[in-house]
Amino acid sequence: MKFERYGIGVLKGMAVTFRHLFRPPITVQYPEEKLVLSRRLRGCELVWYPEKCTGCATCAKNCPQGNIEIVTHVGNQNNYMVDKFEVDTGRCMFCGLCVESCPYEALAMGLCYEGAKYRRRDLVMAKEALAISDSRKPSAYARPTIEASLPKQSLLVYWDRTDGGQKLSLFPLSKKRGRGV
Ligand code: SF4
Ligand code: SF4
Repeated sequence: MKFERYGIGVLKGMAVTFRHLFRPPITVQYPEEKLVLSRRLRGCELVWYPEKCTGCATCAKNCPQGNIEIVTHVGNQNNYMVDKFEVDTGRCMFCGLCVESCPYEALAMGLCYEGAKYRRRDLVMAKEALAISDSRKPSAYARPTIEASLPKQSLLVYWDRTDGGQKLSLFPLSKKRGRGV
């Protein structure tokens, strides 16, 4: 057993504290500042591509929660027309199995993480609300082809200065810190 003089441990601890006293803070001022999240995030939303969806219902069959409701009718060209595509995101565990199982890449996980609502019924999303739009972007989870087009993740410990990564600044309120969105 190594013997240390009484008080050495306290001095070591204080040295660590002292070192951190002058280090710039590595937190971000959420929600004013937001980091760019992982490109492969399974966010709390699903993004649906109406023009790709064939109404095959493979996603609904693979959902362990029975969470996806699809109603179709047969169109003029003997294809399925989707009348209803509804997901109850209040019951969804965002496992991504529906996304992985879609044979036409018509469903993707989204990048949203601020989906709280006051009423449970507001969490049921119809096809208009699920459709891809400028404000509803897909993540690259199970969709590697779009990964390169998404912004690179910024982490507090990520020091890629050339590509919009986290930059620690001596000035805590500098706009350079935590630059994400
Ligand atoms: S993410 Fe999982 S739980 Fe949610 S709808 Fe898809 S398969 Fe169902
Ligand atoms: S999202 Fe994919 S799996 Fe689901 S009905 Fe449309 S094409 Fe089929």
